Amino acid sequence: DATTFPYKRILLKLSGEALMGEQGFGIDPAVAKRTAREVAEAVEAGAQVALVIGGGNIFRGVSLAAGGMERATADHMGMLATVINALAIQDALEHEDLAVRVMSALPIHQVCEDYVRRRAIRHLEKHRVCIFAAGTGNPFFTTDSAATLRGIEIGADLVLKATKVDGVYSADPVKDPSATRYSRLTYDEVLARNLGVMDLTAMVLCRDHNMPLRVFDMNKPGALMRILRGEDEGTLVER
Ligand code: UDP
Repeated sequence: DATTFPYKRILLKLSGEALMGEQGFGIDPAVAKRTAREVAEAVEAGAQVALVIGGGNIFRGVSLAAGGMERATADHMGMLATVINALAIQDALEHEDLAVRVMSALPIHQVCEDYVRRRAIRHLEKHRVCIFAAGTGNPFFTTDSAATLRGIEIGADLVLKATKVDGVYSADPVKDPSATRYSRLTYDEVLARNLGVMDLTAMVLCRDHNMPLRVFDMNKPGALMRILRGEDEGTLVER
């Protein structure tokens, strides 16, 4: 149980793309259910889990801006997309009988709570899952940055980034079969080699606040639990 875990409170970042599964858009209910099951296992074992959800399966600010839209407006649409995803994951988690609160960086009172740091910590202490929606609430940022920021704010022991591959590789493992997985990297290695683990703003925030980050494949059954137990899964980025 969680009293023996090296990580008691975690911040898990799920990209919007991860939610769409094999579809080209939107949310695949099977993926939402599978993800919820993995999170439920962690919570049932006693871990405190906060989530940050991306919005790339619906809207991404940069793509809309490339089409001519004003970037700040495009980013507002992107942030609202993360709220849509957060509601879907909230529902999936509730179907696993978990207590869940969506907390948005942009107030939408009829739909969810506001993000208030001390209230979020209280929820986590009561083993409610917090889903932090609308990113940082500011345009020109990403949900990776939101994940790092919230992780630091709530005093998470670890920030986790779920990706499609099981960690950081020396090259793209899809294109280059000789690519090897790093089991551990330092912040400076990631930054110097431009390894694209997270965007620079997020990486620098992790480094400056010494927040460990693990990149892993959420589609691997049991991966989240193995990480909580301190096993080697994916890639750990730390000092
Ligand atoms: N976004 C933003 N500020 C934030 C977080 C997100 O403006 O603090 C917008 C931005 O337009 C971004 C979109 O929301 O493209 C969706 O987030 P992101 O691209 O990080 O989602 P992911 O790639 O993880 O699915």
